Amino acid sequence: MTGPRESSSGRRLRCCCRLSCETKNETVGSEVNLAGRPGVAWHSGMRLYGSEHRRAGWLLVGGVAMMLAVGVYLIAQQHGNVRRNGEAGALNIARGLEASISARFDQSVASLKGVATDVAAAPRSEAAALHALQNAARYDPFSNWLGVLDSEGRWLVMVDQSGVRATAALEQAVLATLRKASDRGIALQPLLRPSATSEWLMPVTLPVPGGGTVFALVSASRIAAGTESLNLLPESIVALVGSDGTRLLRYTRGNEALVVNGPPLDARRLAQLRAAPAGYLDFFSQVYQRRQIAGFVRSATLPLYVAVLVPVDALDRQWLRDSLGPALVLLLGMIGIVAFGIRLRHALQSQQQALERQRYLAEHDMLTGLLNRDAFARRLRQEIARPDVGHIAMVLVNLSNFQVINDTFGHAVGDDVLIEISRRFGQMGVDEAAIFVARVGGDEWGIGAVQIDGDAGAHALAERLQTCLGAALTLSGVQLELSATMGLAVFPADSKDAIDLIRCADIAVHAGKNDMRRVSRYQQAMDTFSAEALALTSDFARALREGGLCQVYQPKIRLRDGVMVGVEALARWMHPQRGNIAPMRFVPLAENSELIHAFTRLMLAQALAQAAHWRHAGHLVPVAVNISANNLLDADFIDTLKALLEQHQLAPALLELEVTESALMRHAEVALHRLEELRSLGVKLSIDDFGTGYSSLAYLKRLPVHTLKIDQAFVLQMENDAADQRIVRASIQLAHGFGMKVVAEGVESEAAAMLLRDYGCDYAQGYHFARPMPAAELEARWLTSLAS
Ligand code: C2E
Ligand code: CA
Ligand code: CA
Repeated sequence: MTGPRESSSGRRLRCCCRLSCETKNETVGSEVNLAGRPGVAWHSGMRLYGSEHRRAGWLLVGGVAMMLAVGVYLIAQQHGNVRRNGEAGALNIARGLEASISARFDQSVASLKGVATDVAAAPRSEAAALHALQNAARYDPFSNWLGVLDSEGRWLVMVDQSGVRATAALEQAVLATLRKASDRGIALQPLLRPSATSEWLMPVTLPVPGGGTVFALVSASRIAAGTESLNLLPESIVALVGSDGTRLLRYTRGNEALVVNGPPLDARRLAQLRAAPAGYLDFFSQVYQRRQIAGFVRSATLPLYVAVLVPVDALDRQWLRDSLGPALVLLLGMIGIVAFGIRLRHALQSQQQALERQRYLAEHDMLTGLLNRDAFARRLRQEIARPDVGHIAMVLVNLSNFQVINDTFGHAVGDDVLIEISRRFGQMGVDEAAIFVARVGGDEWGIGAVQIDGDAGAHALAERLQTCLGAALTLSGVQLELSATMGLAVFPADSKDAIDLIRCADIAVHAGKNDMRRVSRYQQAMDTFSAEALALTSDFARALREGGLCQVYQPKIRLRDGVMVGVEALARWMHPQRGNIAPMRFVPLAENSELIHAFTRLMLAQALAQAAHWRHAGHLVPVAVNISANNLLDADFIDTLKALLEQHQLAPALLELEVTESALMRHAEVALHRLEELRSLGVKLSIDDFGTGYSSLAYLKRLPVHTLKIDQAFVLQMENDAADQRIVRASIQLAHGFGMKVVAEGVESEAAAMLLRDYGCDYAQGYHFARPMPAAELEARWLTSLAS
């Protein structure tokens, strides 16, 4: 039923379609790109990396870094250990070596002292010297040669370990190279090699009191012997240095690389050696061109320093070798931890994704990616709970004839239609934060808009949705025309509860479908299922039984001369507690229950009784009674009517039945059939509320009705609205074209009456002429002038 609330542009649109059947909404539309169907977009807007995961990731990185730091620290410390061990080792070895070398030289020193004593006591002759030497050689297994040098350096006698005198050539060679002993006791001299073939020999000298020098020559390899058993690093070097800084002998483990003599130590190094009986040195060796550490010990008995030199890079290499194992373990451990961390992170991520997906699925429609019904209700509830909540519009859009699309083009195309519509509606939600969109059913969408401008805002939203829907849609080469019924409900006017608001919109959709209206604003009258409605229904049933219902009558005026040509009977209910209840409230309750039959029967009975009464009084007053769609479907209706007409002995022509256009359209074929039966009874028929029901011209032409009543929505304001005027005029012409009379309803002004008269309208009804009134009043004021 179209009320004055609906926007005039909405009305105009419908009626143009309805009358011309060619003008349609010409919004430029889009071709649907099926390749780009939105499908399931559950991953969009998803938080993949939760802050907790990030935290766990940092923890892992921190752990690995810490482990690395500890590893590096330990390895560095190991470096220090290797260095310290190298120093300690070098010193210990130097101590051992010094002890063994000094002990071995003790033999030579004892021999030298014995010979010196003998030579000093005996006359200075070669023979005496030879004798003393041979004597000493018998007890000395260490010295290779023992000898005496004349104080003037004129002769030299020298024997081997067996006491055999050396050849003259050998003695001459030694005489040429051996220095005279200093007068400070035992001294070690630079090594000499008397003949090219023999080995290097270290002279140990002792001055003879009174002149001359006794000496022992010890082979360098004998001095160096025994290092195999020492725990020397391969590159370590043993160095023997005289107490005056003379480089005497250097060798490596196993007596290899024997190097004899060399430039004296520089003063600084010598001073370092002399500073302590034993210790370490760390220096860059000019000889070996590398950094070395040295452990050194001063011999207790000889003017000798024994040093063990360890190259620092050898130590470093050892450190590297030692660290390789732990470093590898550390590395493998870290790789393991990192791999574990990555796996863990992966597992957590997929778990998170699964959770997100579950949440997404719980809130979204899989086909279109829009919110689902639950999520929509939740959002609505949130909006209602806001402290600054204003008006909220809730529009439920129910697609018309979707089943036909599915059946004709298949479900895949059906899905594409749903996806495309969802995309269009969804875009509104994307563009405007105030709008949220959900797919709440198979072919049903819920659209919410906050902070709207009351009813007007809700209607404006519905119109935008209509425009969206009206844009061209081409699928599989077929251009589809989509239409939908939209139910409007507004917070807080209709309900203050989210779920209930959706229910209100749902009721409005159903009412819209019944009345063949595209946009249907929720009205309490539609709501036959609320607790209040149920209570009212039972009150209404009692009123039906106990006689709480009566009729008033509104004159129908012939415009040509202002004469009343009949009346419309309208039901009135005076509720014992609630007073007058409007038909708009109780008639829908009756229509939604079995009560409609009893109600219509009562109204017919009252109207016929009244008409019969007036006829007896001499007035032939045609009475119009409103009937509902369900009455037309009722197989017994015709019989009931016949019986009532007979009971009241009334000519059928005095009764007119008004059926709304939307009621006719709901059951078009049955209605047509029933109207024909009624017409053959002789009863008059009229189409009520014309202009709101979308009946087609073809259907109208077939209807066996006498009168067409233009809906008051087009008449109430017509003097101010050119579009209404066009619709009214077109309707009049149309009705006349089909041979029908025309009644204009809702005439409230003389201006409207004049316009209607100009357009050739036959009859009018409205407050301008008379309001509905009780029978007695009608008799007093109108029946005297009744046209016969
Ligand atoms: P309707 O059949 O269109 O009835 C006309 C309605 O317009 C009546 O409202 C009437 O009082 C009102 N009306 C008449 N002239 C004017 C006017 O100049 N201006 C305005 N604003 N309104 C005017 P009412 O009596 O409230 O009835 C409302 C509706 O309830 C009716 O609309 C009809 O559909 C239904 N109804 C009323 N009585 C019955 C009945 O006995 N049976 C059935 N099935 N429906 C009924
Ligand atoms: Ca009516
Ligand atoms: Ca009407």
